[in-house]
Amino acid sequence: MTLLEHDKNAPKAWYGNLPVTSRYTFGIAGEKFFRAIKNEGKIMGTRCQKCERVYVPGTSFCERCLGKLDEWVDVGTIGEVKTFTLLYQNYDGTPREIPEAIAFIAFGDGGIIHRLGVVAVEEINIGMKVEAVFKEKEDREGSILDIVYFKPISDG
Ligand SMILES: [Zn+2]
Repeated sequence: MTLLEHDKNAPKAWYGNLPVTSRYTFGIAGEKFFRAIKNEGKIMGTRCQKCERVYVPGTSFCERCLGKLDEWVDVGTIGEVKTFTLLYQNYDGTPREIPEAIAFIAFGDGGIIHRLGVVAVEEINIGMKVEAVFKEKEDREGSILDIVYFKPISDG
């Protein structure tokens, strides 16, 4: 038998289960971003002066010029709805009585995907200003879910 011939008796597969888990770290910039949410209730970005862009969430490198970014800027807690979708099912597949609104909310030249709260579906519109509602400080864990939802601000 040469190397190119197939051994008909060779096992074709291994059967079994591999328990695979993985964990991704936030990275240096991600850690700073989530620490600011947890400890200060702030949304932080990084600025590239060369490209005149503010990345939100903050990143370590500019995706345009690949320059190292270390200028952190507080972009505030009010962003703008750029697009949204409505979820008619819960995460377990059961139907929802009231659809949940998930939006891309622009901050700087980036943004955050999060849920909208305290707003009727028919009142959601592209361009509306929404403000982050944070958990109480002692309940925050350093997660994007430390923001409970974004709510509309009245004066647009
Ligand atoms: Zn740049």
